Amino acid sequence: MTNKKRSLIALTFVIVLLTSTTLFYWFSKQKTQIKEVNVNPEYREVTEKIFEQVLSKIEAVRGLSLNKKVGLKIVDVNWVKKNWGKEFIESASRDLFIEQKIYEALFLINESVNLKKIMYDEYSLFTAAAWQGDIYVVKENFNPYKKIDAEKVLAHEMTHILQGVHFMKPKTETYDSKQAWSALIEGDAMLAGDKFVEEEIFNKSRVSAKTTVKVFNNPFFNPFNYEVIPEPLIKLWLFPYHYGEDFVLYLYKKGGWKEVNNAYLNPPQTTEQIIHIKKYLKNESFLKVPSVKINGSGWEEARNDRLGEHFIYVTLSTWTTEKEAEKASYGWGGDNFTLYLNKRGDYFFTWLIRWDNLNDSEEFYQCLTKALRDGIKAKKLLNGIWGEEGKYIWFKEYKDKVLIAGSSNFEQLKNFTEIN
Ligand SMILES: [Zn+2]
Repeated sequence: MTNKKRSLIALTFVIVLLTSTTLFYWFSKQKTQIKEVNVNPEYREVTEKIFEQVLSKIEAVRGLSLNKKVGLKIVDVNWVKKNWGKEFIESASRDLFIEQKIYEALFLINESVNLKKIMYDEYSLFTAAAWQGDIYVVKENFNPYKKIDAEKVLAHEMTHILQGVHFMKPKTETYDSKQAWSALIEGDAMLAGDKFVEEEIFNKSRVSAKTTVKVFNNPFFNPFNYEVIPEPLIKLWLFPYHYGEDFVLYLYKKGGWKEVNNAYLNPPQTTEQIIHIKKYLKNESFLKVPSVKINGSGWEEARNDRLGEHFIYVTLSTWTTEKEAEKASYGWGGDNFTLYLNKRGDYFFTWLIRWDNLNDSEEFYQCLTKALRDGIKAKKLLNGIWGEEGKYIWFKEYKDKVLIAGSSNFEQLKNFTEIN
């Protein structure tokens, strides 16, 4: 990793830490009785004061009314790990196992990566969150003495509460549509956070060096710890933040918050629409692509999904340049990814990707070839199969579609290529 890239990632993570995440919509809606954690009275007082200030202004800044009482809860890292981390990891255990298989099969991570552990460790980094209608701040990571950052974080989280009051979450059945929806809500919350502090940043010279870092004694806060997270995962996880704010900012410039609110009535469906907002504005969506089935007994379908343009971009950019990957993933028209698992621990996937035209299809095909040959340096075996021990991949162009298949079982993949 180059230094420039490393500092970019570190910077991005600081931003994400500041804005925090809203992972917890999945959890039970029922209110949890929370046990107060020990908090220094001065810390509590300063935090409560900022909270009240943000609460009194957020409706005017975002142009929506809260219509309900929002509480502030101060918790610590242990509380977060116990109440959110453990619950999430346990309830999503099977999903995380499948996700890890998909990343491995597509050469995005190697077998030494432990996705569950990475996700669990992430919980130490939470700054604040909106959960069950209240705002939670994590005392080791939330620094109320850095006033502007603290306001931004709280305004961001309160915007998530406003979203819950005013807008309906659409059915998001695919990875691609989930990412698109996350980009809208995170982009909205980030922009609202920025707007909230805009005036203060403008007058920044008047803000004195009161911004001490005395509460930052958490070793996890060191952004370089993030190096344990593989870069492709960082790119996938940061998609809503990276692309969401530009998307929402475009709408905001066009017609203010009214235009942003309208997007909730017609939410973006694909990451393609987030990356290329003109496609969203033109209502260019996607075509349904069928799942490609496999023969042979003992296979069970573990995942059927649409991964979308951004996922394809990340897959290619891991093994080629970002520019090549951007160009090759452009012109996406829909896809279908199906993962099969068997009891012997093998995986098999099929991924059929449809392109807008023959040229786009050819571009993707060439870029994928280059990624395998020059990036991954996979060996070319028989029947057009690439790979080596335990990880094989094959792909073929069918006019405006490219079919990719991969497996840990060479024989099974060989049989598949003979009939496709
Ligand atoms: Zn957020």
